Amino acid sequence: MHLHDLTIKKFHQGLLDKKFSAAEIVKEYYNRIEVRDREINAYLSLAKEDAFLQAEKTDIKVAKGESLSPLDGAPLAIKDNILISGQPATAASKMLEKYIASYDATVINKLKSSGAVFLGKTNMDEFAMGSSTETSAFKKTKNPRDLERVPGGSSGGSVAAVADSMALAALGSDTGGSIRQPASFCSVVGLKPTYGAVSRYGLIAMASSLDQIGPITKTVEDAEILFKTMAGVDLLDSTSVDFPKEDKHELTLDDLKNMTIGIPEEYFVGGLDQPTSQALDNSIKLFKSLGIHFKNIRLPHTQYALSCYYIIMPAEVSSNLSRLDGIRYSRLKDSNNLLDLYRQNKSAGFGDEVQRRIILGTFVLSSGYYDAYYSKAQKVRSLIKNDFTEAFKEVDMILTPVAPTVPFKFGERIDDPLAMYLSDIFTIPVNLAGLPAISIPANQKPELPVGFQLIGKHWRERDILTAGKYYEQAKYIT
Ligand code: GLN
Repeated sequence: MHLHDLTIKKFHQGLLDKKFSAAEIVKEYYNRIEVRDREINAYLSLAKEDAFLQAEKTDIKVAKGESLSPLDGAPLAIKDNILISGQPATAASKMLEKYIASYDATVINKLKSSGAVFLGKTNMDEFAMGSSTETSAFKKTKNPRDLERVPGGSSGGSVAAVADSMALAALGSDTGGSIRQPASFCSVVGLKPTYGAVSRYGLIAMASSLDQIGPITKTVEDAEILFKTMAGVDLLDSTSVDFPKEDKHELTLDDLKNMTIGIPEEYFVGGLDQPTSQALDNSIKLFKSLGIHFKNIRLPHTQYALSCYYIIMPAEVSSNLSRLDGIRYSRLKDSNNLLDLYRQNKSAGFGDEVQRRIILGTFVLSSGYYDAYYSKAQKVRSLIKNDFTEAFKEVDMILTPVAPTVPFKFGERIDDPLAMYLSDIFTIPVNLAGLPAISIPANQKPELPVGFQLIGKHWRERDILTAGKYYEQAKYIT
């Protein structure tokens, strides 16, 4: 079995059929990483010893004939802002270069109990701020589909690892699009769960009212397996919620045929490049051929989403990152004067983009500007959320582009923050509203990656996952 054919589902079947052992597959992944990652730069650190130990546990279960969880022995890549006890968690920042996590994130705990294997930690934009993985303090991750282009961001390392078969699947985090946009850029699947569906405990916080951890996989089915394992209430994250009970039964194609997908006018106006609009048209056609209905809808406050996000997100960033003073984890500078010590370490520890957001956030929260910016942005956030509530009275799901363009080249946008921020124009409203959304490869040609986004109602991951699974099946038949 070639690694690039392997999915979580097939891997599980292979273990049951004794076609291979978990340790053999882990070894194959490390061999591939050794060869390929010199070029791609998806990983920041590897955890070989722990990975083999964990794989061995699965192999012992197989030998004893014990039952296996769907994730037993599955080799995963983890974004470097999610804590695994005893492993580095740098968030791709010099500020945390020497930090070794002292506890497991709740998602890691759950995955460990399911027998998953962690191959290593992946590159990202520094503290998840960016759309290309170029703001990492350590390396530039290449898009495996086209080495001259960025993989997207901020979960670029996780996405590249999956796209290049250097991991079976991966975890990312999504504050404004960081799972969905890179998934679209590298032709893999990325799910941003409903806010509160997955515990954020042990995720290095960027903007706490927007952050969610989610799966990055080769298929929608795999995303569902990971999501179901990770979701649920957690006493260590007071914003986490248990799923409504009626959500448990499987949906069929007939259920889907009774549903309507909305197409928001505001997401299809100009600005989309040709391959993106072409791919989106094809996806809509394919859904229609399955018998699913479409309806044009309006989300009238969409145009304010980006400005609203770039007030709320930096405000939360400035508060979350204020604890990082460079004293405890990675002291880069020394001084006898405390204020000077903070100033020097923060300047040396944080990159330009992170500093820009801390300054912006501190400004919008400062007295005299709080009402003019922060509190106004919160009101706009309610309007945006309300747009979706109204739309979901008419439709069950919403289909949109993930990003306005196909992946751009290195250096093209890094010096123009506004151009970079525009990559997330279609993903940000979803975070502001706390909704679930999935990015699914639209076309068959991975050399020109384009994804489409399906947005669901709160707690209705089931709807978008089911629609995605039928889309995938149909895509490979047609
Ligand atoms: N690219 C967006 C930003 O830079 C989103 C980041 C994210 O989702 N972590 O803020």
